[in-house]
Amino acid sequence: MNNKSDVLIVGGGVVGLFIAYYLNKKGYEVTIVDEGPMKKAASYGNCGLVSPSHALPLNSPKLMWKATKWLMKPDSPFYIKPQLNFSMMQWLTQFALNSSKASIERAMHGRHNILQSSRQLYDQFLAEEKINCDWNDKGILFLFKHEKTFYDYEKVNEKLISEIGLAAKPFAEKKLIDFEPAIREDVFGGFLYENDASLKPDKLITSLNTLLKERGVNFKDGVKVNTFNTQKDQVSEVITSNGEKLKAHHYILAGGALSPLFQSQLGIKIPVKPGKGYSITMQSPKYSPKVPCIFEERKVVATPWGNSYRLGGTMEFSNYSTVLNNKRLNALKKGAAEYLKEPFSESEYEEWTGWRPMTSDELPIIDFSTGHKNLLVATGHGMLGVSMAPGTGQLIAELLSNQKTHINPAFYSLKRF
Ligand SMILES: Cc1cc2nc3c(=O)[nH]c(=O)nc-3n(C[C@H](O)[C@H](O)[C@H](O)COP(=O)(O)OP(=O)(O)OC[C@H]3O[C@@H](n4cnc5c(N)ncnc54)[C@H](O)[C@@H]3O)c2cc1C
Repeated sequence: MNNKSDVLIVGGGVVGLFIAYYLNKKGYEVTIVDEGPMKKAASYGNCGLVSPSHALPLNSPKLMWKATKWLMKPDSPFYIKPQLNFSMMQWLTQFALNSSKASIERAMHGRHNILQSSRQLYDQFLAEEKINCDWNDKGILFLFKHEKTFYDYEKVNEKLISEIGLAAKPFAEKKLIDFEPAIREDVFGGFLYENDASLKPDKLITSLNTLLKERGVNFKDGVKVNTFNTQKDQVSEVITSNGEKLKAHHYILAGGALSPLFQSQLGIKIPVKPGKGYSITMQSPKYSPKVPCIFEERKVVATPWGNSYRLGGTMEFSNYSTVLNNKRLNALKKGAAEYLKEPFSESEYEEWTGWRPMTSDELPIIDFSTGHKNLLVATGHGMLGVSMAPGTGQLIAELLSNQKTHINPAFYSLKRF
């Protein structure tokens, strides 16, 4: 590594890769260390939505109420495994406290800024680079089975229009089926977010890997960082699973839901919990929707990519469990069957689970470490890591090079915890 600007990134998921992309563009020499395998990363089997529509955080008094009912049901969209885990209890308490009007407003603005920036950066990135990721910019459809939930969302739509200028196009009853014939006749209505998009996440990662390798980014694949060694207020080196000592001017912790495992070693707080989700990938049903659909009452997503198709969703807090729970997998199919005429095909080729890196206020962490001048942390992107990754990469590159930032970094500060 040269003396000027070497950066070592721990984590080669979508966040780490976009950070490397923007640092490389600025001329930094970058190394990415990733323990793999790629399939274990949340960035692999997610639903691939690039969704500026998701400005509102999950935290809301309504959700807290619904969640208490869902907890009793094994196939509900939300589940917390009973556990005697003090830090999980703290996290949940904080999540509940963040349902106040002020916290929701703050999260909405912070999310909106980075989601909009990332959406624009995707356009720029895809125009400039040769990337094959089944990009579809025809929008995302939020579907409501019932009249009441549809009209409740109309109020949310009005709020988002008046507060941040984010508008969706409503379609009710017959107009909805005319727009998307794959939807069942008994689904009441939907809202189309025309500026939303989607992509195939594993293709994006593979393409980005290839591009970065061609540009000289150094990859240490299948290598785990075990230890961050520090001296005073600096990280001095990392020690890897094969005993190597790797040194850099700057270090970036972008390990997704695994990032908090370094908290005690680094003596800093990274209050991120793994929010387990599931997906099933299959060949497209013959009658599949042309844009991704979110089945709002069931919190299940269907994403079509030409020949392939994925159902995904559910949020489970069961620590770092990797067990594929059949009840939850079946709930994805059951949920989709309430909205689509042909909700899945019989040709399943992958059942998958991954951990979303969840913060309790639904804002990511993109900041210098509170204890080390040459360490940055980029994690906590929750349900929106794909949607927020380019903005995160750009922001980290600006922070690291001490440049004016394109969005206000205060929203993503580590000190807020
Ligand atoms: C079911 C599901 C559906 C989702 N759908 C969407 C969606 O539609 N749109 C969207 O925007 N987001 C979605 N998400 C969220 C999104 O997948 C995550 O926010 C995002 O992938 C997080 O990216 P990351 O790079 O931070 O973490 P990861 O993808 O988990 O990557 C972290 C990487 O760090 C590596 N690592 C960790 N610790 C170490 C170590 N000590 N040494 C070396 N390497 C290490 C890991 O190997 C891993 O590769 C979904 C998530 C799930 C589970």
